Amino acid sequence: MILSVNPAFCEITAFQAEELQGQSIQLLAPLIHDASLPEAMREDLSSSGHWQGEVISMRRNGAPLTAWVSLSLRRDTDPRSGHLIAIVHDVTSVRQVEQKLLRRDHFDGLTDLPNRQLLVDRLSQALAQARRHQQPLALLFLDVNQLRHVNDNFGHTAGDGILREVAQRLRQSLREVDTVARLGGDEFAVLLPGATAEGAGQVADKLIERLAQPCRVEGHEFSLTFSIGVALSPDDAETPEALLRCADTAMYRAKLEGRGRWCFYSADMLNRSARQLQLEAALRRAEEREELALVYQPQVCLQSGRLVGMEALIRWKHPELGMISPAEFIPLAESSGQILSIGAWVMRTAVRQMKQWIDAGLPSNVVAVNLSAVQFRDPGLPELVQKVLDDAGLPPSCLELELTESVAAHNPAEAGQMMDRLHALGVRLSIDDFGTGFSSLSHLKRFPIHTLKIDQSFVRDIGTDPDDRAIVQAIIQMARALRLTTIAEGVETDEQAAFLQSHGCEAAQGYRFCKPMPPEDTLAWVQSHTRPNSASRALLAPTAAQAGV
Ligand code: C2E
Ligand code: CA
Ligand code: CA
Repeated sequence: MILSVNPAFCEITAFQAEELQGQSIQLLAPLIHDASLPEAMREDLSSSGHWQGEVISMRRNGAPLTAWVSLSLRRDTDPRSGHLIAIVHDVTSVRQVEQKLLRRDHFDGLTDLPNRQLLVDRLSQALAQARRHQQPLALLFLDVNQLRHVNDNFGHTAGDGILREVAQRLRQSLREVDTVARLGGDEFAVLLPGATAEGAGQVADKLIERLAQPCRVEGHEFSLTFSIGVALSPDDAETPEALLRCADTAMYRAKLEGRGRWCFYSADMLNRSARQLQLEAALRRAEEREELALVYQPQVCLQSGRLVGMEALIRWKHPELGMISPAEFIPLAESSGQILSIGAWVMRTAVRQMKQWIDAGLPSNVVAVNLSAVQFRDPGLPELVQKVLDDAGLPPSCLELELTESVAAHNPAEAGQMMDRLHALGVRLSIDDFGTGFSSLSHLKRFPIHTLKIDQSFVRDIGTDPDDRAIVQAIIQMARALRLTTIAEGVETDEQAAFLQSHGCEAAQGYRFCKPMPPEDTLAWVQSHTRPNSASRALLAPTAAQAGV
């Protein structure tokens, strides 16, 4: 029975003192949300005489109340009776502020989904629980494929609308115990506690299907596709970060396989970083999206200063990642096989460009194109070269193909046959990065090669490293003996150019003369580098054919 309450209790609970005094404490029990709480209180009180804890309840007027309650039991001399003293702190507003802060820290403002941080928290809890109960768990990593396109063409309001719609569909497609989170940008994650590989696969199937339904946003109808990566614990990883990485990697793999796919993580993907997979996926569309371009670097005769050729070098401008170096993406294109189509594009573009330059009066008529070992092993290469030249109307002698020494390392006999076929077409062959592979001189002698390109690593230290000086000298001498032309790469200083010239190197390319430049700058460069001496006459030669090496 409630004996007395003070005014503060009345203020907190919105009861009048008269309404409570003399009533059973049961009067308050229905206001407590957690029905098992009174029982727990009773147990603690009878064992220790104390209880304290947070009670979520409501006031008499129905308003929410969160209270911190301490109960202590004072036994009378008669053990069958006693007094209970309850001290109640109203912590409602404190908890509300805490909740708000927590939301801001843990939820995505746009979709109201948990953010990455909260996902990681829940994931580590779920992983701990899964370990305890020896249960599996799955994490799905989702990416909206064309969101960038929507943002670019329909504005960010449309993009935001789509993200909200996606969030809603994801929530509707999943169970209460699953967590859907927005990781940022166009990436979402789904945590499926207890899910096996089979279960996760079914969920991924379902999500792909539901998300493929067209959605209307801002008066437009959008059909979007998604890529999903699935990682499993404990099989793939056992920490939140590692599991996220696995799912992310699998997502990029799924992307590679085409839009609207999902894919399990597998350990062999570990060798390939997410960036690699991302680049590989983006590279597939780089050509059609016209993100690839060629720049050209002049090759100059060291004796006369004449322009003797142009090397075509590929550039890739990724819309988000910026300029990607060919040193990074060519190996990816090689391993994925895309190098064949990219290489064909390079050849077509460079050959067409050279034809235009010749028509515009450029005093050199040789364009050098880098050839990957993968292209070189493609039996269709000679036909491709022939067709590209025919289509552009460029004589074969105007095309030089740069090979690396490694093409011959694997199977010299086969490499020799391919070189013979190319040579028979009338195109010129050069060996790029010479000195860095393990070429044997006997091979070189057998092959129909026109030019050795001395690798820039030797040229760089000509001024300081006697070994490099000796190597460069030896390469030039050897080339002469084999009747090969030499071009030094990466020539940056006058000193390097002078050394090379004095030892009989015919030509050079490098920043000393010109950085690789876009085709539209080339004619202007050639004109501004004509000097009023014999070299300039050569540079301004009336017919391009005369200016060949
Ligand atoms: P590479 O064929 O040895 O090309 C020479 C590289 O050295 C180019 O880098 C060029 O920009 C750079 N370079 C030129 N002059 C200088 C200089 O004076 N100093 C320094 N430090 N560097 C200089 P880039 O364009 O980044 O190309 C890197 C490599 O990517 C190329 O090496 C080539 O192996 C490959 N690559 C480029 N374009 C293609 C292509 O169309 N097809 C294939 N298969 N490979 C390509
Ligand atoms: Ca090259
Ligand atoms: Ca090179």
